[in-house]
Amino acid sequence: MKAYVNQKACIRCGLCPTLCPEVFSLDDSGSPAQVITDDIPQEQQIAAKAAADSCPTQAIRTEL
Ligand code: SF4
Repeated sequence: MKAYVNQKACIRCGLCPTLCPEVFSLDDSGSPAQVITDDIPQEQQIAAKAAADSCPTQAIRTEL
């Protein structure tokens, strides 16, 4: 599974790195959230999907 963050839609709420820090990262530079895993391992896919479903601006897209 892969995940993508729409950089324009992310409002840096901090939810995705909290729910799934192995896949999403938010640094102090003011940049939008970044996906740090190219191919999401099986054991992190539920958390990554939960982050996508919980994103307040629907900025995260996942695809198999
Ligand atoms: Fe950005 Fe959505 Fe992640 Fe919040 S949950 S930091 S808005 S991508």
